[in-house]
Amino acid sequence: MLEIAILSSSLLIAQNQIPPPKFLELKNQLQKYGFEVVIELPPKRGAYGLFKPTNKKIWINPVVFDLQFATPTLIHESVHAAQFCAGKGKMQTLGLKIQPTIATRRLFLRYNNIHRQDLEMEAYTVQTQPNSFKLATTLLQKYCKK
Ligand SMILES: [Zn+2]
Repeated sequence: MLEIAILSSSLLIAQNQIPPPKFLELKNQLQKYGFEVVIELPPKRGAYGLFKPTNKKIWINPVVFDLQFATPTLIHESVHAAQFCAGKGKMQTLGLKIQPTIATRRLFLRYNNIHRQDLEMEAYTVQTQPNSFKLATTLLQKYCKK
């Protein structure tokens, strides 16, 4: 029974939510560096994406495909993956030279923990750049390369 349920839900994703080429390219790159990317509801309620450092796993909420927001979500989580590589297993800021816009600031100031805020600032700042995709792939290459 369980198998049937899983199969039909993944078919639904394949039919209605074809991932954009950039999403797939980034997903492949992440997997190459040992990250697992799953298109499932994240264990944190209401999250579009989630990165769990302990098992190098990235969740992408299937709803982002309907919202046409899949690639920015994966870009955001890729920055967290790069932070993980930079800190050699601990989350560490990358010290990016780009500044967040006022609108972007609103997105990460809600995090209370100051270290978390810095990490989120980088992820949101990259995510909102016009060249966000290129930035994310470059950061992964730079920090996660073996
Ligand atoms: Zn984040």
